[in-house]
Formats: sequence, structure tokens, C-alpha cells
Amino acid sequence: MFNIDMEAIDFEKTYDLIVLGGGPTAIGCAIYAARFAMDVLVVGKTFGGLIATTHIVENYPAITSISGQGLMDMFKDHMDSLSIPYISDQIRSIDKVDDYFELRSFFQKFKAHSICIATGSERRKLGIPGEEEYTGRGVSYCATCDGPFYKNKVVCVIGGSDSAAKEALFLAQNTKKVYIIYRGEDIRAEPINKKRVFENEKIEIIYKTNVVEIKGEGNVKSVVFDNDIELVVDGVFVEIGSIPNSDLAKRIGVETNEKGEIKINRKSETNITGIFAAGDVADAPFKQAITGVSEGVIAAYSAFDYVKEMNIEY
Ligand SMILES: Cc1cc2nc3c(=O)[nH]c(=O)nc-3n(C[C@H](O)[C@H](O)[C@H](O)COP(=O)(O)OP(=O)(O)OC[C@H]3O[C@@H](n4cnc5c(N)ncnc54)[C@H](O)[C@@H]3O)c2cc1C
Repeated sequence: MFNIDMEAIDFEKTYDLIVLGGGPTAIGCAIYAARFAMDVLVVGKTFGGLIATTHIVENYPAITSISGQGLMDMFKDHMDSLSIPYISDQIRSIDKVDDYFELRSFFQKFKAHSICIATGSERRKLGIPGEEEYTGRGVSYCATCDGPFYKNKVVCVIGGSDSAAKEALFLAQNTKKVYIIYRGEDIRAEPINKKRVFENEKIEIIYKTNVVEIKGEGNVKSVVFDNDIELVVDGVFVEIGSIPNSDLAKRIGVETNEKGEIKINRKSETNITGIFAAGDVADAPFKQAITGVSEGVIAAYSAFDYVKEMNIEY
């Protein structure tokens, strides 16, 4: 939980850099910017980002094993040690005014010479009958958050990625049975997680199958497959990827690719001078905390060079 020191936030100041987001990418960027003695502010809708919702992270260098929340607590400690101001708010518009950008939320207005967009992504939905109706009543997008409610119950995870495998492994700790339902022929998990899934007696994979409906009575009772088979489950965990949070950027003319990801170059620059982007919202092929941090750090370097060129007195 954040204790926001509103006095540390100067709403009149034109910051050197405002970082949008509260995930690892945003914080990595802000840490470097602060160490470059830039006036930096972080504005995040929530703190922690997607990684904070996963129960275990085993691939962040120098930390053998930690929960996603634990990792982000360490990011917060590092940020606090540099007195980086953070405000919990959602930016709704960006406009260019003279030599700075104006960012607006519902109640606040912020100004910055440069911006790093690190707004990550939203979980992709199945878009099938029953999904919306039973969200929160058996349909979930976060095993760490909702898994504990399914002790000794039968659940399914829809998806075949490494994230889906990790969600299934987490759920298998307390549930009676976990089905992974995947439309492909072979799950795409990291080899170590794939092995763990195959060795786990509680997990069964159903391949080449799509879920076309979620049924229930008050709460989820079953899922229906595209071959008309109905599987009785108490919970459905959807893990089929994500959609980049790039609408805000698009509205000011930032270029995106066909997936809606912000196009960046190797300096984390977008097509608009002074606007940088990094992490899951950007078009880099790999979406991990460490790759997001790396792009965020590069954005800080580039923003520093850009602001320096503007000859602003520190
Ligand atoms: C189940 C699962 C397990 C995973 N496991 C691992 C793992 O083991 N190791 C690993 O490295 N990665 C893992 N990942 C991937 C990792 O979570 C992401 O790559 C990483 O979180 C991306 O960081 P980000 O900061 O770019 O975006 P996010 O973490 O998505 O953060 C985006 C932030 O932007 C904020 N935001 C959005 N819109 C606005 C706005 N308009 N204004 C202000 N703020 C806004 C959000 O509130 C959020 O705080 C996993 C992902 C999932 C789903």
C-alpha cells in the first residue's frame, strides 16, 4: 500500500519526465531517471502491475525465487530510497503544448517535457457466452488472487502459454483437479514449467479444444467445448494473453502495430519526439519483467538526452 505524499507532488512544475504506469517497466525507468538527477514523477493507475499478480517469479536475475508482489515491494523500496514521487491516478489524455506535454486525469493536470508510456496490457477475454455473467462467480483472470477460493474443487485453465502453465501449477497446490484446455497441440511453457506440469498428477491437459460457453447456476458449473462435450468445473481461469493499453498513446498520434502495441526503436523512442514507450505496451517481441525494465531504462537514457538537448536548467 502506498502512502502518497501529496506535498511531494508539484502540480505546477513541468517535470523533466513523467512515467505512466506502476509496473516493473515504469519503476525501472524512474529509478534510472532519478539517478540522472531528472525531475521525475510516476503516475500509475495501480502499483505493481501484472507481475504482482503471479505467485512465483523464478527468472528475475539475482533473485532465485520470489512472489510477484514481493518483487514489486522491492521495487518500491528502491524507489522510496531515491524519494521518487508516485501518484496513484489514471492518465486519460496527453496533449502537446509548446515545448511540454500536458497530461490529464479526472481531477489532476500534470506537465512534463518528456513522457515514458509503460501502461502494460489488459487481460484478453474469451468473448463467449457466460464469461461476463460469471466473472467473479467462477470466472477469473488471476489464479493468485482467486485460487485460494477453490480448495479441493475442480478448475480449468484456458490457454497454453508459460503463464497458463504457471497458473495451473499454482492452482494444483490446493484444488482437487486442474484441467488445462488448450486449442493447440503442445503447450508453450518454459521447459522447466512444462516438465512440472507433466509430472503433476492433478493436472490434465485437453488439447485441440476451444471452450465455447461457460454455464452455471449462480456460480460456474461447467464449460462446453467446440465438440459439444461438457466438462463439470467449479472455476474457470482465463489465461489467453493480453491487449496493450495503448489507446491513450494512439489518440496523440503515437504509431502502433497491428496488435495495438506501440512501435519503438532501440532507444525506446516512439514516432513522436519526447514520447518514449517500454514494456508490455510496446512492440518488443518478449514480454517479461526484465525485458520491460530494460526498455524502461533505455527510455530513461533517451529521455535524459532529449531533455538535456532542450537546455533546461536543473
Ligand atoms: C500469470 C503471469 C505470470 C507471469 N510471470 C512472469 C515471470 O515469472 N517473470 C517475468 O519476468 N514476467 C512474468 N510475467 C509477465 C510480466 O508480468 C509482464 O511482462 C510485466 O508485468 C510487464 O510490466 P509492465 O510494467 O510493462 O506492464 P504492467 O505490469 O502491465 O504494468 C502496467 C501499469 O500501468 C498502469 N496503467 C495502465 N494504464 C494507465 C494509465 N492510463 N495511467 C496510468 N497508469 C496506467 C497499470 O495500472 C499498471 O500499473 C507474467 C505474466 C502473467 C500474466
